[in-house]
Amino acid sequence: MRIVVVGAGVGGLAAAALLARDGHEVTIVEKNENVGGRAGVLSRDGFTFDMGPTWYLMPEIFDRFYSHFGRKTSDFYNLLKLDPGYRVFFDDGGKVDISAELDENISLFDSLEPNGGEKLRRFLAKCEELYKSVSKTLYLDLDSPFSFLNPEILSQGIKINIFESVESYVKKWFQSDKARKLLLYSIGFIGTPPSKAPAFYAILNYVKLVQGVYMPEHGIRQVVNALYRLAKQENVEFLLGQEVSKIEVRNSRAERIYMNGSSMKVDAVVVNADYASFETKILEPRHRTYDVDYWSKRMFTPSALIAYIGLDKKVENLIPHNVFLEKDWGENFQQIFDQRYAKWPEYASYYVHVPSKIDKTAAPAGGEAVFILIPVAHGIDDDDSKRETLLNNILQDLEQKTGEKVRENIVFKQLFSIRDFSARYHAYRGSALGLAHTLGQTAFWRPRHRSKKVKNLYYSGQYTHPGIGVPMVLISAEIVRNKLRKELM
Ligand SMILES: Cc1cc2nc3c(=O)[nH]c(=O)nc-3n(C[C@H](O)[C@H](O)[C@H](O)COP(=O)(O)OP(=O)(O)OC[C@H]3O[C@@H](n4cnc5c(N)ncnc54)[C@H](O)[C@@H]3O)c2cc1C
Repeated sequence: MRIVVVGAGVGGLAAAALLARDGHEVTIVEKNENVGGRAGVLSRDGFTFDMGPTWYLMPEIFDRFYSHFGRKTSDFYNLLKLDPGYRVFFDDGGKVDISAELDENISLFDSLEPNGGEKLRRFLAKCEELYKSVSKTLYLDLDSPFSFLNPEILSQGIKINIFESVESYVKKWFQSDKARKLLLYSIGFIGTPPSKAPAFYAILNYVKLVQGVYMPEHGIRQVVNALYRLAKQENVEFLLGQEVSKIEVRNSRAERIYMNGSSMKVDAVVVNADYASFETKILEPRHRTYDVDYWSKRMFTPSALIAYIGLDKKVENLIPHNVFLEKDWGENFQQIFDQRYAKWPEYASYYVHVPSKIDKTAAPAGGEAVFILIPVAHGIDDDDSKRETLLNNILQDLEQKTGEKVRENIVFKQLFSIRDFSARYHAYRGSALGLAHTLGQTAFWRPRHRSKKVKNLYYSGQYTHPGIGVPMVLISAEIVRNKLRKELM
């Protein structure tokens, strides 16, 4: 079969490689000149940054993906386990390191509240139990609510109350503000406020505190390089710098796709491009599974202001992953997540990644590559002065908390925010991660992997089950491959 994959993000590259491995003739059409989508690379003036993902979690999912091609992770890159996994700076000037060793984290929690260590041990054991049940649903093609609410999940659900928020769940276990924040911050990884994410997302704590935080020696771009190599090895054709503008549908089947003045006949299409934008802008209304009204009622993840900064000095007090937590994150969350209060924040919780702490090729000798991510609401006015004001506030805060000057040592700076997400990835309202992971937008309730209106039109990527994050998107590609095997071969 001739299959066209629209978009060369992780979800497109992975689907293309798997489908080509099944013997299909596969072409990827990507609007940008390079592959990787949100997991792209910025390389300039001697500094190299992963533009999006920087945390490598759940290594077993990557191992499984490569095994479909008879390969191992170590065939593609050297995977390092970070210890400490990450550093957290609190608003009161205190900081803690989250260790790769569970016993050290237990001692840390003992210092945060009475019996904190024992509570953490029991909490993480619970998260592990939950992780083991939830991970059984990750690879399922959830085409009915019953496929998600299987007996095992339900029995866990009864134990944890599936309708409870992760914020309320964690608050029942821990009393101190710091312990709570350490266990709730991870929820930001799925772009959802802890008050809206279901309790089972507490499993992210098992992932980070027990499984640990990993990093390919030269960054997450090595995952994209591996996927590209696999796709090439399976003879996938790449059409880069070509934007898909139309899909011709006849008798409920996609027959031809159009891009930059040319067109191609197809037997099936896999859309990896931003689901909401693709459905509302490229498909004719009668061929859409979800209409404009559906998307306008969904909760989207925020956008972000990302600063890629090159310094001509080393910063001693930062490690590869650093999280800076605001004291009152309630107000900050409201400005980011609640469209009624959406505006550029003055201050915010933020994340600082320093790839050059591990990867010597990320910055010139004696320098440091620094990536700063500050969540901001999607869909709001994005102008240069607002970006600069917020960044300046954050850099001032960073200097104060690390005790090190950075602003006078900037030799490279590039900012990326709401309007860039829209222009570069066609991100709906400039959202960084697409659909948030509320209960009503999780598992069966995420948009379908196959169109309800066009029989041979499929979707892979972060909008679909299991959702946001590089490992989840690899799984979505596998689900699509399995669906195509079942339905079209
Ligand atoms: C700032 C940031 C930080 C993140 N951090 C992490 C992290 O630390 N760890 C982690 O695991 N995940 C992280 N994520 C999430 C992860 O990067 C994403 O979930 C994943 O990369 C999404 O992949 P995708 O294939 O679904 O979509 P995308 O990467 O968006 O790929 C879609 C592709 O489609 C192309 N396209 C769009 N429209 C068209 C068209 N009409 N024609 C042709 N091509 C088109 C786009 O250009 C793009 O290349 C982060 C994401 C961001 C943005």
